[in-house]
Amino acid sequence: MDYGPAPESQKEAQAWLDGHQRKFGLFIDNAWSEPAELFASTNPADGAQLAELTQATDADVERAVEAARRALPVWQGMGGHGRAKVMYALARLLQKHARLFAVLETLDNGKTIRETRDIDLPLAARHFYHHAGWAQLQSEEFADYRAVGVVGQIVPWNFPLLMLSWKIAPALAAGNTVVFKPAEFTSLTAMLFAELCVQAGVPAGVVNIVTGDGRVGSAIVNHPGVDKIAFTGSTEVGRLIREATAGSGKKLSLELGGKSPFIVFEDADLDGAVEGLVDSIWFNQGQVCCAGSRLLVQESIQERFLNKVRARMENLRLGSPLDKSMDVGALVDPVQRQRIAALVDSARAEGCDVWQPACELPADGSWFPPTLITGASTSAAVAQAEIFGPVLVAMSFRTPPEAVQLANNTVYGLAASVWTESISLALDIAPAIKAGVVWINSANQFDAACGFGGYRESGFGREGGREGMLEYMTALAEDARPALPVVEAKAKAAAKPAAADPFAIDRTAKMYIGGKQARPDSAYSAPVFGANGALLAEVGVGSRKDIRNAVEAAHKASGWTGATAHNRAQVLYYIAENLAARADEFAARIAAMTGNKNPEKEVQASIERLFYYAAWADKYDGLAHQPPTKGITVALNEAVGVIGIVCPNEAPLLGFISLVAPAIALGNRVVVVPSEAHPLSALDLYQVFDTSDLPGGVVNIISGNADELARTLATHADIDAVWRHDGSAEGCAEVERLSAGTLKRTWVGGAKGRDWYSAAQSGGRAVLAHASQVKNVWIPYGV
Ligand code: NAD
Repeated sequence: MDYGPAPESQKEAQAWLDGHQRKFGLFIDNAWSEPAELFASTNPADGAQLAELTQATDADVERAVEAARRALPVWQGMGGHGRAKVMYALARLLQKHARLFAVLETLDNGKTIRETRDIDLPLAARHFYHHAGWAQLQSEEFADYRAVGVVGQIVPWNFPLLMLSWKIAPALAAGNTVVFKPAEFTSLTAMLFAELCVQAGVPAGVVNIVTGDGRVGSAIVNHPGVDKIAFTGSTEVGRLIREATAGSGKKLSLELGGKSPFIVFEDADLDGAVEGLVDSIWFNQGQVCCAGSRLLVQESIQERFLNKVRARMENLRLGSPLDKSMDVGALVDPVQRQRIAALVDSARAEGCDVWQPACELPADGSWFPPTLITGASTSAAVAQAEIFGPVLVAMSFRTPPEAVQLANNTVYGLAASVWTESISLALDIAPAIKAGVVWINSANQFDAACGFGGYRESGFGREGGREGMLEYMTALAEDARPALPVVEAKAKAAAKPAAADPFAIDRTAKMYIGGKQARPDSAYSAPVFGANGALLAEVGVGSRKDIRNAVEAAHKASGWTGATAHNRAQVLYYIAENLAARADEFAARIAAMTGNKNPEKEVQASIERLFYYAAWADKYDGLAHQPPTKGITVALNEAVGVIGIVCPNEAPLLGFISLVAPAIALGNRVVVVPSEAHPLSALDLYQVFDTSDLPGGVVNIISGNADELARTLATHADIDAVWRHDGSAEGCAEVERLSAGTLKRTWVGGAKGRDWYSAAQSGGRAVLAHASQVKNVWIPYGV
């Protein structure tokens, strides 16, 4: 028995295209521009041209940004309820026109109608419903925040409408206005969405849609009138955007590529896992950022499981995406097909086994058969590169630790899928995997209430959930920051060899690495002068080698991340207690360094801040979401890892404590550059740390030239985030630019100052959010 054809009608979608003479201008200020400088959008399933779209110019982007700026007060003036009503109307309209959208998306993208109809459209509508709710609750739930302003949003072609809703819904809910750019291959559903905006009563200028290729994206990114960039796409372009926005003050979120592991343990429900795998790597032809493209299967069941996978692959139906019984549709464009084919050829050339089911590919259009690759080494291109196609690379492991090690053997960290019937094993593995989303006994689950986003080179920022809303808001406390820091004169004297006179008493304050005092590798030191101009001491001039040693020590101290929050809190209290015991000494040091007339106040504020973050350590809990599926999604606030911190010159002790305490409270390990002008009170802290049960390597202190050390921190491959708060605009810009190499998270203060005594500016959840990253673990529950 075979399947008969079950085509979905495309009449309505074709009529809609005809109604527009198959030509589209740009949607700016709720009006359509005349189509100009056209490029074609084709149906990937047969190569036929569907319509032509306009390549926006810089002047068009300018117009769109201006319209968005003008619309800000209008949109915000409508209030949370006003915005919620409009967003609710958008959700309703998406549902009402779901079939038209689904068919149009399938025609434009090549993905099957089953997916557009059953996944993309329901999720897109849900996103608007959910965020209509956030608009309604904003004044209550985010009272300490405001909208960022004009937001530039750029998306790829794999989920055109869904990515649009992931971007536009939270931005609008928070009161921003947007300039949105769809991918050049797939702009049509965005054009249809623009029409819904008018119908739903979105005021002119709130949503502006400009079409075109990367040049348009680049014009948005570089436009000075844009306050935030939200980008989804390749890691390569994400890096360019990080560099381009460095120092601009633009807020940035990046959702980038992935190479996600799909881990099957020997006790898993193997048939369930096979179905999960189908949803994971053959969903949307594998053109999914979080596709489970690396199958890691326990050796004891490898053969049995792969036989089941091959049998299932034989049954996958590939063909016309509009046919309701098809599993696999067309690739978005021949360019993608060539890229995938080249990677698969490279696997063949490396001696891997490439298996494909007998499968007839349609003559026209862009197709690639489901493919299974075995025998690849862990360093093979197919094991490391994001293929972004229906290609699964399978490897085996023997033990759970080996599975974790293989899973994390990637520069990416977007998602993972874990299959086992043992709940303890699943919940053991989930936190060990470096990825923003972990699905247990499931795959590719999404919901507006649950944040989605990556670790490492998969980017930073989250979409969905509470954390996703925060990406579109600015804390009011940031606006209250002083325009300039109170920058003290830096020690200008040149570095000189330490203790040149062998008989001189060595007054060089040591650095602190791995729980021990350390001399600088360079053997150079620099003098530190007090407020009265007298020489107070020498400090070591730290170098690249010292940072390397400190990072190594920080990595060895990973036990700190695994320690309980209660234990970490105890250590912070203990540090506070020991600091209090030496309060006079520290006050005297601060007075000598800075001339501060009330140094006791800074010491007391530092003690209080330690108490403050000790208090937070076991209270910055995650959330348990209940998405509309059978399960719970546990949003965990995990440590970022190793954070490099460049401290402010103002309040040299309090500034240091205000940055280090939240980082270590949440389980991070830090490599800290203390105030360049007044480093001594931070360097004195080793005596406090040594008596406070702080494990060696959790806090490492490297004194020296802030610019040079910040550069080393930002380019170091094993540092996960860099914070810089010394008021150096260029230095902060450089940290952002250099961090693009490994896409580190950054938190920089720019040229502005910060009131380190103010709990609002130097404390709170906004700071804790910098010290953590949310991992969403999906757990089937009540199934
Ligand atoms: P891409 O990076 O080439 O393009 C994405 C978008 O960026 C397009 O709209 C493109 O026109 C635009 N663009 C290109 N160059 C630009 C530039 N210099 N400045 C600004 N914008 C520019 O990616 P793609 O090939 O369209 O999409 C596939 C990639 O997207 C994959 O790597 C995939 O993993 C990633 N992706 C990630 C997620 C996620 O949530 N993490 C979701 C979907 C896709």
